[in-house]
Amino acid sequence: MKIICIGRNYSDHAKELNNDVPSEPVFFFKPDTAILPKKQPFYIPEFTKDLHHELEIVVRINKLGKNIKEKFAHTYYDEIGLGIDFTARDLQKECKDKGLPWEKAKGFDYSAPIGEEFIKVNEIENLNDLNFSLYKNGERVQIGNTKDMLFSIDRIIEYVSQFVTLKIGDLIFSGTPAGVGKVEIGDLLEGYIEDRKLLSLKVK
Ligand code: MG
Repeated sequence: MKIICIGRNYSDHAKELNNDVPSEPVFFFKPDTAILPKKQPFYIPEFTKDLHHELEIVVRINKLGKNIKEKFAHTYYDEIGLGIDFTARDLQKECKDKGLPWEKAKGFDYSAPIGEEFIKVNEIENLNDLNFSLYKNGERVQIGNTKDMLFSIDRIIEYVSQFVTLKIGDLIFSGTPAGVGKVEIGDLLEGYIEDRKLLSLKVK
């Protein structure tokens, strides 16, 4: 499986990092080794001094597809959850400044923890108006709503599948809203969609 991540999909987050708002989706990959095994704590790697959380809605692909049209995209997934796109912001800045790829800042081992539980899409009233939030040590640090995505999940699937075949089990991290910030040893990260807690992660 592969992990496809969308960058700059919420304009308030693009602005907080002084990035331009993109005119088409921006994507990058994390390898399958970025998945954190269930119930494991996350250990901050030694190569970064500025590790950031990015809470994102995650879509699990359930059908093989290529060149998928936006209007059929909803038939390629039936559940969503939450994940954290951990980012070594200091390494990412170095890469960006040099015009180099971001992989070492984004794709390192266990950089993509996902929640224990996913929600069936048919249980969701409106996928394009869904609140989600991240609490760090009990304090809300990120809040987003899927209606503020620059590119909807279905548009992302259309766009990405022009270039890359989607396979069963692939995950799409659909971008983070504003409020990204540093995590420290001892932090507890908890992610919610509306009032359902779907993710809980201890940082060590
Ligand atoms: Mg991200």
